[in-house]
Amino acid sequence: MENGKCNGGATAKLPEIKFTKLFINGQFVDAASGKTFETIDPRNGEAIAQIAEGDKEDVDLAVNAARQAFDHGPWPRMSGFERAKIINKFTDLIEQNIEELAALDAVDGGKLFQLGKLNDIPAAAGHFRYYAGAADKIHGETLRMTRRSMFGYTLKEPIGVVGHIIPWNFPSIMFAMKVAPALAAGCTMVVKPAEQTPLSALFYAHLSKEAGIPDGVINVVTGFGSTAGAAIASHMDIDKVSFTGSTDVGRKIMQAAAASNLKKVSLELGGKSPLLIFDDADVNKAADLALIGCFYNKGEICVASSRVFVQEGIYDKVVTKLVEKAKDWTVGDPFDSTSRQGPQVDRKQYEKILSYIEHGKKEGATLLTGGKAIGDKGYYIEPTIFADVTDEMKIYKEEIFGPVMSLMKFK
Ligand code: ADP
Repeated sequence: MENGKCNGGATAKLPEIKFTKLFINGQFVDAASGKTFETIDPRNGEAIAQIAEGDKEDVDLAVNAARQAFDHGPWPRMSGFERAKIINKFTDLIEQNIEELAALDAVDGGKLFQLGKLNDIPAAAGHFRYYAGAADKIHGETLRMTRRSMFGYTLKEPIGVVGHIIPWNFPSIMFAMKVAPALAAGCTMVVKPAEQTPLSALFYAHLSKEAGIPDGVINVVTGFGSTAGAAIASHMDIDKVSFTGSTDVGRKIMQAAAASNLKKVSLELGGKSPLLIFDDADVNKAADLALIGCFYNKGEICVASSRVFVQEGIYDKVVTKLVEKAKDWTVGDPFDSTSRQGPQVDRKQYEKILSYIEHGKKEGATLLTGGKAIGDKGYYIEPTIFADVTDEMKIYKEEIFGPVMSLMKFK
C-alpha cells in the first residue's frame, strides 16, 4: 500500500460463536420463519455464522414476553435495591468475559480487539455498574401547593416495555447505554442489534440469564431494520423506543411511533463535528488529537472530527504533521495489537466511503494522503485527508462515517 502503514498477521484469538438464535423469554429460539442471515467478517468478507432472522412475528413474541414480564413478573415489583444486586452480578459476568466480548465485536464489526478490550467492554460494564447504583436512587419530588396545608408529589415509575434499536459501530456500548438504565428503572425490553453486528448482544443476553435477570425482561431479536426494526417502531404494545443510528432511519422511527401508538421516542442520530485548531496550539498534539478524533474506530463514529478548521498562521505546519502521522497510521487486522485501524464494518459502508472519496476528488478538493482501498480482501480503506475543502462539497456537508478528514483554513 502507498499510504498509511499495513501490518502483519493477527495475534489475538478468534472467538467461538456460541449464540446465533433469537433470545425470547429466556430461551434461545429459531425465528418463526426458520430464516437465517449471514453475519460477515469484514476482514475478508466471509460468513462467520448464520444468525436467526427475526421479523414481525418474532417481535410480537418478544413483546408479548416483555409485556408478561412487566405486568406480572417480579422485575418491576422488586425494590431498586434488589434490582441493583442482580445488575451488579450481570456486570461482574461482563467483566469476567471482556476478552470474549471484545473478540466478538472485532470479528463481527472490524473493531480493534484492543479497543474493545480496553475501552468498549469496560465502558459497557461501567454503564451497568453505574445504573446498578442508580436503581435505588430514583426519586420523585415533593411540591408545595398554593394552599399551605396541601402538598403534591411525583413518583417515577418504569415506562413499561421498551424497544431498543442499536447501531453497529459500538455494539457493546450501545447495548449497555440502552439496556442498563431501562433495567435499573424496572422496564422490560426488546433489543434489536444491528444486522452487521449481532453476536455480542446475544452473548450479553446469555450473561443476563446467568446473572438471574428474570425471563422476559431482556429479549433480543436479531434481524434487519426494515423488518424487525420497523416492527418495533410501529408496535402497539411497546411504550417507548430508543434508537441510535442514521438520521434518515431516525425520521422513519419517529413517523412509525406517531402513526402507531404515539410511543415515546429517543433518537441519537448522525453528526459532522468540527474541530478548530488555533494559531497558539501545540502542532504535534493538535495533529494527534485531530487524527484520533477523525480516524478513531475507523471513522465510524457520530462525533468524528471529520471537519478540521485550522487557523492560517499554523495551517502549513499542521498539514505537514497531519500527513506525516496519517502515513504512519497502521491499518490492519483488528486482532493485531499494532493495528490502529481495522476494516470498515461491511461492503455497503466501504463502498459508500470510497464513493465519498471520489466525490471529494471530482469536486476539486486536494487529496493529501490516502484516497483508496487497501488490498482486495476485506474492507480496508486508507486514512484519507483532503485539503481545500469548501462549504458546497459533499464531503464537507454529509456524514461519511469513515476515515476521511476535510481540512479548511480560517482567518
Ligand atoms: P446505518 O445507515 O449507519 O447502517 P441505520 O440507521 O440504518 O444505520 O441502522 C441502525 C439500526 O437501525 C440498525 O439496527 C438497523 O437494523 C435499524 N434500522 C434500519 N432501518 C430501520 C427501519 N426502517 N426501522 C427500524 N429500524 C431500522
